[in-house]
Amino acid sequence: MSRYDTVVTGGRVVMAGHGVVRCDVGIKDGRIAALAEDLGPSDGDERVEAAGRVVLPGGIDSHFHIGIYRPIELDAASETESSLVGGATSVLSYFRTGQHYLNKSGPYREILPEVLASTAGQAYVDYGYHIAIMTTSQLDEIEWLAAEAGVPSFKYYMFYKGLNLAASSADAASYTMSDSYDFGHLYSMMERIAAADAEHGGSGRVSLSIHCENAELIKLFIERVRDAGKPPLETYHEARPPLTERLSIHEAGVLADAARVRINLLHLSSDEAMTATAQVRQLYPDLDIRAETTLHHLCLTYDMLEGKGLGGKVNPPIRTRRDVDALWRGVISGAIQWVASDHACCLEELKRDELWPAQPGFGGTALLYPVLLSEGYHKRGLTLERIAELASTNPARAYACYPRKGAIAVGSDADLTIVDLDLEQVVTPELLHSAQDHTPFAGVSLRGWPVRTIVRGRSVFADGDVIGPPTGEFLHRPLAARPAVARV
Ligand SMILES: [Zn+2]
Repeated sequence: MSRYDTVVTGGRVVMAGHGVVRCDVGIKDGRIAALAEDLGPSDGDERVEAAGRVVLPGGIDSHFHIGIYRPIELDAASETESSLVGGATSVLSYFRTGQHYLNKSGPYREILPEVLASTAGQAYVDYGYHIAIMTTSQLDEIEWLAAEAGVPSFKYYMFYKGLNLAASSADAASYTMSDSYDFGHLYSMMERIAAADAEHGGSGRVSLSIHCENAELIKLFIERVRDAGKPPLETYHEARPPLTERLSIHEAGVLADAARVRINLLHLSSDEAMTATAQVRQLYPDLDIRAETTLHHLCLTYDMLEGKGLGGKVNPPIRTRRDVDALWRGVISGAIQWVASDHACCLEELKRDELWPAQPGFGGTALLYPVLLSEGYHKRGLTLERIAELASTNPARAYACYPRKGAIAVGSDADLTIVDLDLEQVVTPELLHSAQDHTPFAGVSLRGWPVRTIVRGRSVFADGDVIGPPTGEFLHRPLAARPAVARV
């Protein structure tokens, strides 16, 4: 019998805090059991050759929407398959009551088990959930969610208010299925989350993620641009301008400072959002504020998508080159802590051909490492170590998964992606292995793709094909350290 179940040999391994190290990886019982200079083929029952390749920690796509527009079971299978393509081995998915998802409201003590039962056995990668507290009575569930249910991360949508949600037909109350979704609700939520963090945060950060856009301003700007005759995605950008993001970030900062809650500013999309984030950090220097941006906000402009339909409609909108450049500056400086896809499988039929009724969102998880490698490493000199932090280590730390996830280290789960830094491919829907029948990234050429993705020691994706079963497990956070691998 070999010492290890699998050995990954010959690769250059990217380790947070250590840089890129030439070493082999010994895997036993789904965990990393050894990092050594020369494991031989006889040391493992299976050998994965990684010579000439880079071994990165499996990505943690921490902004995801399993089941927003399709049944959870279907999305959990097809969309986590898509994650394998981009080197993600875990996803953290947002769930809320209200319209879309399960299209109902009620206590999470009843609904969360339903969500977990629907996901179980379907996912190709490990998965956790963030929960949006939508109603007053759900506030009482925060303590239980954080301390017992494995969900120490929550969400608030600052633009779910007013009569009209981005000109779609729904009013906010029927959309959220809540009559209390306002700043009073947000502040109460912050207090409860801060209390849960004070009580339980020692074993893993308890935090609130915030979608920063402002409904009243969106309403005004929609009326201003509705009939201006500009191309649809430019119109959408102007209908939800960066000003709304800037205002919401400041509002979130004031309330978070008062409630002393840890916050995550989601999918920052603009130069103004970056400035506002820097200002809020300066105003409240001891507040724990982390910032996220998305692959599409780092990679696309509305100009690039002109004439290509409404597939690129998303909240906040795809913006300008100036905004893309500002976000990259934030990524490179460290002002942004992680990059995620905000993956929402949204079929062409839900986009239709009219801007306002088109559903927002699209998939992108298959591009997690490819965008960072192509646009970050190759084009902007971002180091591989920083890329591993942005895609894996930092979201793992923020969302109570570290160090079982987010690190190539002895004792961590053997979640790895093996990358060919020079493989260049032009994005097509087929390449992404998603159920989504279009992609706004179509035609974009990216250099640097995973050629193998390993989930807890098992190769699940190799050379463009899925080769293993969906063995993803629920990440009950904070992830407890596992007992040490038996000495071999
Ligand atoms: Zn989202």
